[in-house]
Amino acid sequence: MERTHIKNLKTKVGETVIVKGFVHAIRDQGGIKFLLIRDVTGIIQVVVLKSESEAFELVKELTLESVVSIEGRVKEEKQAPDGFELQALKISILSKADPELPIPVVIEKGGEEPEVTKRFDWRWIDLRRSERQEIFKIWTELEAGFRDYYEKNGFFQIYAPSFMSSPSESGADVFEVNYFDRKAYLAQSPQFYKQMAMAAGFEKVFMTGPVFRAEPSFTTRHMTEFTGWDFEISYIDSHYDVMKVEEELIISGFNRLNEKLDLGLEIPVIPFPKVSMAEAKEMLKQAGIEGERELDLSPEEERELSRIVKEKYNHDFIFVTAYPSAVRPFYHMRDDSAESLTKSFDLLYKGIEITTGAQREHRFDVLERQAMEKGMDLASIREYLDFFKYGCPPHGGVGIGPGRLIMKLLELPSVKEATFLPRDVKRLKP
Ligand code: ATP
Repeated sequence: MERTHIKNLKTKVGETVIVKGFVHAIRDQGGIKFLLIRDVTGIIQVVVLKSESEAFELVKELTLESVVSIEGRVKEEKQAPDGFELQALKISILSKADPELPIPVVIEKGGEEPEVTKRFDWRWIDLRRSERQEIFKIWTELEAGFRDYYEKNGFFQIYAPSFMSSPSESGADVFEVNYFDRKAYLAQSPQFYKQMAMAAGFEKVFMTGPVFRAEPSFTTRHMTEFTGWDFEISYIDSHYDVMKVEEELIISGFNRLNEKLDLGLEIPVIPFPKVSMAEAKEMLKQAGIEGERELDLSPEEERELSRIVKEKYNHDFIFVTAYPSAVRPFYHMRDDSAESLTKSFDLLYKGIEITTGAQREHRFDVLERQAMEKGMDLASIREYLDFFKYGCPPHGGVGIGPGRLIMKLLELPSVKEATFLPRDVKRLKP
């Protein structure tokens, strides 16, 4: 007999089925025993009667979180949580759980969740909870929504290596690893390679992959390894073309979440609000907030700016544009009318940066000059510079942190909660 998922049992009242899952709860009422069985689709109450003696005896051995297969009859029962239950005929234990669970899966009413470090130590048990699984359903559908967009708009999917022969950008926060007889570095972003795809004439690419940052950050939005979602597009006129694509991507992702998971998300209005860094600073000043850094936004300023924008435009997203070149990498294109500014942006969502994007400098001589101005060792980026030596279309793109987007979408306390297995300064396990 084929296994039936718990959510489909309601269509099988009166039939004999097989259900497989974890033992969520055991209630022993003497002559009758109740189990709650949980699979990825839901929870069902199972009744084990004394008359089914083999099954009844087996329940005595059962421990919470054991994995079982139960053959039984689906029965209407007004008192059962969903109006029906499963009457067990046969139970087999597929995997017996140690009776001492390191962390509970079910938190009793009024009970406290285990401390977060402990939860992450036992992440696979922590992830058994349905609200945690929901986070990863959202990842899956959000990514699928992005892919819908990429597919409809003729993007290539590419993959870039994580090993690099030289640090990808500044070198300050890069992991160095032994690579046979020399050193290699873990990519801090796929930036250089997606630009290479533009030089290869791919025109539109997207990628998802690991990004490594050796920053000793102890914040709720930084990890040492995270998943990056990137795209890069050619023949743009400015970074405004890049922002437009990102807006459409996000809409596609949100629509998919509503369609597949019925999240009832408000679909953000296009175009998203946009303010220049100078305007953002002015808005903050008027609200009485002055950050420490004149040219960049502090986390507090990002939060406040989002709050102001929400109040003023009722929008959860805001693009901050025209970042000064002093705080942007050498490959961001400078503004035509003001050399000190770049054609770049950050996208903030509910108070936190989720994206950096820009039009890139594709002109070899200008790029080389900008790198020199930033005091870069040209020899170390020679191979990157060569991408632009033999013809390269004007282009731009973004790096998106989906963990942060999902963290804010679900109002989770940390990006680590939105990550299957987080890595930070202290954590390399499990
Ligand atoms: P921040 O200023 O917040 O440290 P960043 O400017 O270093 O971020 P980028 O290098 O532009 O970030 O990376 C692109 C996106 O990747 C960011 O907008 C963010 O969503 C995400 N991101 C960056 N660093 C991290 C990190 N350490 N952990 C998780 N996500 C990150």
